[in-house]
Amino acid sequence: MTHHPQHFVMRFVMCLTMFAACTRTPAESRRPDAPAAMAPSAPATPADAAVPPVGERLTLSNDAWRQRLSPDQFHVMREQGTERAFTGSYWDNHDHGTYACSACGAPLFSSETKFDSGTGWPSFWQPVEAGRVDERRDETLGMTRVEVHCARCGGHLGHVFDDGPRPTGQRYCINSVSLRFQPAR
Ligand code: FE
Repeated sequence: MTHHPQHFVMRFVMCLTMFAACTRTPAESRRPDAPAAMAPSAPATPADAAVPPVGERLTLSNDAWRQRLSPDQFHVMREQGTERAFTGSYWDNHDHGTYACSACGAPLFSSETKFDSGTGWPSFWQPVEAGRVDERRDETLGMTRVEVHCARCGGHLGHVFDDGPRPTGQRYCINSVSLRFQPAR
């Protein structure tokens, strides 16, 4: 029997095909009718699945926060900094959705309570839910103010003043960099 060149090519192709089949991951080789990894009742987006419950706390070291956050985020959220007015992403955002903590993902404010304060910072008259935002007296810069931070991770958000609109009269003046907007679906 002679070794015909066409036979050799055929064998080579067959070996390649088998090798490719063996190196596939289980997910790639799953039959179309096989059950999917995620059940139909599972949340539609990872963001929904990741909503932490009220009362949960996330405590990390300063070094861990520095690795997780951008320099701007770290300065505002861990060093009580303030972004320059009219420079953030959300002071003029009028879309419907939820504003979550940019450091830990906890929901903090809703577009339903956002109003145009004219300050250049996103402003709200109420947090999205009781227990999401904590307050603390702030005596820095020669003023007495009320500082607000994420109840879950302690990240600084901004300050709350009592010159807001109805129905609460509160003005939560928040740094955009401390927020991550999640559009309503
Ligand atoms: Fe947080």
